[in-house]
Amino acid sequence: MRSVHAYDVNRPATLIDLISDALATPREGVLEERLPGRAWESLAAQCVRERVDAVASALRNAGIARGDRVGIFAQNRVDWLVCDYGILFAGAVSVPMYATLADDQVAFIVGEAGIRLMFVETPAQAEKLHALCGTSIRAITFDGEGDDSLQRFEAGSAARGAGARRAPHDASPPVGADDLALLMYTSGTTGEPKGVMLTHGNLVSNVVAAFAPERGELQPGDVAFSVLPFAHVYEHTNALGFLLLRLTHVVSVPDRLLDDIREARPRVAAFVPRIFERVLTGVLARARADGGLRAQLVPWALAAARQHARAHADGRSPGPFLALRFALARALVLRKLKAALGLERIGHLVSGSAPLPRDTALTFAGAGIPVCEGYGLTETSPVVSVNRTAAIRYGSVGKPLADVEVRIADDGEILVRGPNVMRGYYRRETDVPFVDGGWFCTGDIGRLDADGYLWIVDRKKDLFKTTGGKWISPARIEAAIKRSPYVGQAVVVGANRPHPTALIAPAWDLVRREFALPEDTATGRIAARDDVRGRIEAEVVRATAELAPHEQVRRVILLPRDLTLEDGELSPTLKIKRRIVEARYAGLIEAAFAAVSLP
Ligand code: AMP
Repeated sequence: MRSVHAYDVNRPATLIDLISDALATPREGVLEERLPGRAWESLAAQCVRERVDAVASALRNAGIARGDRVGIFAQNRVDWLVCDYGILFAGAVSVPMYATLADDQVAFIVGEAGIRLMFVETPAQAEKLHALCGTSIRAITFDGEGDDSLQRFEAGSAARGAGARRAPHDASPPVGADDLALLMYTSGTTGEPKGVMLTHGNLVSNVVAAFAPERGELQPGDVAFSVLPFAHVYEHTNALGFLLLRLTHVVSVPDRLLDDIREARPRVAAFVPRIFERVLTGVLARARADGGLRAQLVPWALAAARQHARAHADGRSPGPFLALRFALARALVLRKLKAALGLERIGHLVSGSAPLPRDTALTFAGAGIPVCEGYGLTETSPVVSVNRTAAIRYGSVGKPLADVEVRIADDGEILVRGPNVMRGYYRRETDVPFVDGGWFCTGDIGRLDADGYLWIVDRKKDLFKTTGGKWISPARIEAAIKRSPYVGQAVVVGANRPHPTALIAPAWDLVRREFALPEDTATGRIAARDDVRGRIEAEVVRATAELAPHEQVRRVILLPRDLTLEDGELSPTLKIKRRIVEARYAGLIEAAFAAVSLP
């Protein structure tokens, strides 16, 4: 039995405690979603609790015991969270997988984690799973009506009566802080995925440390919006934070993002940088399509917003001319823009998982939407540091959480210690990314400023040296290049070459318009044009002018198409898999180094 007197609602011991507490008080609108072809559905606290209990009992009836691994292989939806929490309530370990994960990786994870039961979305996915992993694995489907549908699974447990239900904290021994809760496989840019072992204690500590300070700014019943996959630890922890703060959690997916957000009008949401960029690109494209005055006004207003926010962020006065421009921009465009996007109630947006270009964040800030960038890894549950709205330092990833220690090693690597740090990698006893004193080695390069804000400089393993012996940080150069609106994606390569080179996928639509090309002009044809290359090269020279001489890009390679997840060039968190891109375009890279270099 859980000892009641030692229990503190502000410091739950396990995720089971945290979830039970959050669902104990009657409340409408705990989880909401709008599935394709259906109306909005909203689940009250009691309903969520009953469903979670039903899934937990059904799992136990299906022979799942404490510590067993149970998979979830689906897109975000309310059922996803219900099953995840049901797995935890059964004392088992949840093993989430991205809906887009490649077949060989699914088979690998199912095999390594020893998964015997898996929640999937559709009957077709269940069939695919059986073809991949054999029919001995049981697949419970969110959609579908057969015996193995989620609906029947839950209903079956209820039909067996109370005898089948046993809350895990009644079990002996009880699930505790040291029990494994999640086995999260990281994307692994090289080789096989690695299973990160996160305990109840790891996750609870991180949810509380990241979200408790938001009490006051976020009130119970405020709308929180999810679009990033729950299969990544970032949104998984956010969902728990929304429960902790008693928010109304609207569950969405990227295809429905813009529509859902307009309807949900959230107060808080977490994005990755690419979504921020997608929103801005969408706003600009829309203005251009509208034509007339708007086509000029919207880009002008966003530029005024960015410049005004930058002046503030840099501690400068904007000056009377910019102040006037900004006031006009706000009155004419920015206020309406917020409402048109469904962001008029937003308190702040959070960004994480990859570096957010400072100018992108400042554009949102200028439009009245503060962006709090944070930093973390799957191995740290994930939050290490985050900016808080009262004291945002744009460009940094904020200050470490209250119970998380950060130290910078001699070579610049960020080391982390705290209750949020994983137990280790599953079945990889020799892969121990810790140094003396129990510090976890993040593989990221960073610095702490005088006020304790953390700044990410690069990722350790991506650093490379030129033939001149100078270290090159590709992320830094890419961030500079991506300031140009003509650049969609950029990858800097050049290990053991005289200078770095950039592979660039242009912002195709902008280039088409600029060069008056028909809308259906293929990307490969655009990339082959000398005039387009000339323009992009000029942009790159301009954008990198402020970097050190050895960091200046001397050659530009235009990619014939965007890098994509489907082609294996991006990880599921949309990070570029550098080695794969480099290998795939080796021919183009060779040819570029043989060609004339930029001035
Ligand atoms: P993952 O385990 O998929 O969450 O990836 C963790 C990695 O994402 C970290 O080691 C960083 O390299 C990167 N990362 C996360 N947040 C940020 C950020 N705000 N800025 C730069 N890199 C980040």
